[in-house]
Amino acid sequence: GEDIVPGTGKRRLGVMGGTFDPIHHGHLVAASEVATRFHLDEVVFVPTGQPWQKSHQHVSPAEDRYLMTVIATASNPQFSVSRIDIDRGGRTYTIDTLRDLRAANPETDLFFITGADALAQILGWRDADELFSLAHFIGATRPGHTLTDPGLPDGGVSLVEVPALAISSTDCRARVRRGDPVWYLVPDGVVRYINKRGLYGEEAPNP
Ligand code: ATP
Ligand code: MG
Repeated sequence: GEDIVPGTGKRRLGVMGGTFDPIHHGHLVAASEVATRFHLDEVVFVPTGQPWQKSHQHVSPAEDRYLMTVIATASNPQFSVSRIDIDRGGRTYTIDTLRDLRAANPETDLFFITGADALAQILGWRDADELFSLAHFIGATRPGHTLTDPGLPDGGVSLVEVPALAISSTDCRARVRRGDPVWYLVPDGVVRYINKRGLYGEEAPNP
C-alpha cells in the first residue's frame, strides 16, 4: 500500500535495537526495507547492554555482539552502529536509548524499528507513554509472529511488510552448538567471527 510517512522535513534516523547475538539477515533485510519505505536517511543499529528481558539467560559479551554488528553493516553507507547502550552499562531499556539518541540528534525524527514479536510487548516496556513521544514506531512482519497494532496513541505506529526470513538468533546459536552451518543465515564475516571467537560452542553456563 501507500507509505504513510509522517514528515517534518528533518533528517530521518531509523533505530534498530537488538541483542544481535548474532546479527542475521532477518535484521538486515528489515532495516533495509523500512529504510526504503520510510525514506530514512540512515539506520543506526544499537546493540543492547544487558537486555532486561533476557536477564535470566546467557548473552554473549557486548564487545562480540558490537563487533558482529559492525562487520554485518560496514559495507552499507546507510547503516551505522551505536555503542550508547553498551557504554551506558547496566540493563538496557529502550526509553534510555531513545532519550540519548534524541539528545545527540536534536534536529532529527527518530523511527524505532521493531519486529512483530517485540512490538506485541511494547506497552509493557518501561515508560511506554514517553517512548511514543520520542520516536515513531515501525512494526515489521516476522515469520511465526502476527503483526498487529499494540494500541499505541493515534498514529504512533506503522506496520510494514518486509521480505520474510525465518531466521532467529536463537536458532543460529543452536545451529552452531550442534555443528550445523549458519552460512547464508548471517553475513559471511559474521560466520568467520563466530568461528574465530568460538561463540555458541558450548552449552550456555548458568548465570
Ligand atoms: P533471539 O532469538 O536471541 O531473541 P532475534 O532473532 O529475535 O534473537 P533480536 O536481537 O532479539 O533477534 O531482535 C532485534 C529486533 O529484530 C527485534 O525487534 C526483532 O523483532 C527483530 N527481528 C529479529 N529477527 C527478525 C526477522 N527474521 N524478521 C523481522 N524482524 C526480526
Ligand atoms: Mg528476539
